[in-house]
Amino acid sequence: SKVNMGSEFRAAALQKTLTTTPKALVPKEKLAFGHTFSDHMLTAEWTAKDGWGTPQIRAYGPLSLDPSCSVFHYAFECFEGLKAYRDAQGQVRLFRPDKNMERMNHSVERLYLPQFDGAQVIECIKELVRTDQRWVPEGRGYSLYIRPTMIATENTLGVHRANSALLYVITSPCGPYFPTGFKAVSLYCDETNVRAWPGGVGNRKMGANYAGSVGPQVEAEKRGYQQVLWTIGEDHELMEVGTMNLFILWRNEGGELELVTPPLDGTILPGVTRDSVLELVRGWGEFKVSERKINMKQIARASDEGRLLEIFGAGTACVVTPVNRIHFKGKDYKVPLDPADPGSQAGPVTGRIYQALMDIQYGVVPSKWSVLV
Ligand code: PMP
Repeated sequence: SKVNMGSEFRAAALQKTLTTTPKALVPKEKLAFGHTFSDHMLTAEWTAKDGWGTPQIRAYGPLSLDPSCSVFHYAFECFEGLKAYRDAQGQVRLFRPDKNMERMNHSVERLYLPQFDGAQVIECIKELVRTDQRWVPEGRGYSLYIRPTMIATENTLGVHRANSALLYVITSPCGPYFPTGFKAVSLYCDETNVRAWPGGVGNRKMGANYAGSVGPQVEAEKRGYQQVLWTIGEDHELMEVGTMNLFILWRNEGGELELVTPPLDGTILPGVTRDSVLELVRGWGEFKVSERKINMKQIARASDEGRLLEIFGAGTACVVTPVNRIHFKGKDYKVPLDPADPGSQAGPVTGRIYQALMDIQYGVVPSKWSVLV
């Protein structure tokens, strides 16, 4: 069921007012994730009475909101994260933007904010990227991160559906997640805090999911681990790692080589990278690929028996992040990375997936997933 009233979101109505004060570009090597913003942003207001207003590209800058605004009180917010990549010919490309729009409409639905035609918003995002194309850095690993956001803007207290909303998109140039090649991360399996639960909102990209994850992340860091391994239930079923989807390559109890990721049961964010890894690796047809539940006891046993081969997180920011050990109930379980190369920071399958997805993102290998801006 579509949540909307009044006018539809229309890219054809887009208006553009260029900034009179363009900023100096930040040198590529100084880019830290999410710190630098380009010259323009896209905004579109919605009201229950009139529907979507005119989308606008205008100078990046502060929003003016009333302190009573519903986003500040009840976290009426959802967002997306995708990237624009510059290929070897200098053209700019998006990676599966339709998947981000589909997921954003799914987030919006639960918040009862206005849904939209994803193709129309993609047209406006393309124009925003074209407008700020000097902000798309060159080089493999570099990109322009794109952050579509929707907030409720009604100035009343009271928990109820909002009568007004703002969709905005900002962009931020960023460098490779691992500037000097892969760096494997350690995980702390959190037995106390749960990121998401059945019937909750873990499968939607709502800001509230992230605010609650920061305390456990700081605790994990204090214990000397880099990311939280999120689990649920008495069996410590694996969910996600930090803000990434989780993949495990192992020799399973039946002796088969298998790549496993937890199923989309409503508690897992349906990652665009996750979906792409699954389709890519299934296409190779070299080993079993499963979306199924897997718990810490199985991981611990596989580690003890030498059957655990590679673990990685998958997400837009990093593509893939290798994992080298997991702390669970007072013990560290090592993940071997590449047994053939003691100095390696990623297993061979993790590395191969990383290169194959980047080849598509940067237009080296043609694919329907890569969309020219
Ligand atoms: N899980 C969570 C909780 C995330 O925040 C993200 C980042 N959006 C992901 C997984 C990976 O999703 P994607 O591949 O679409 O970036």
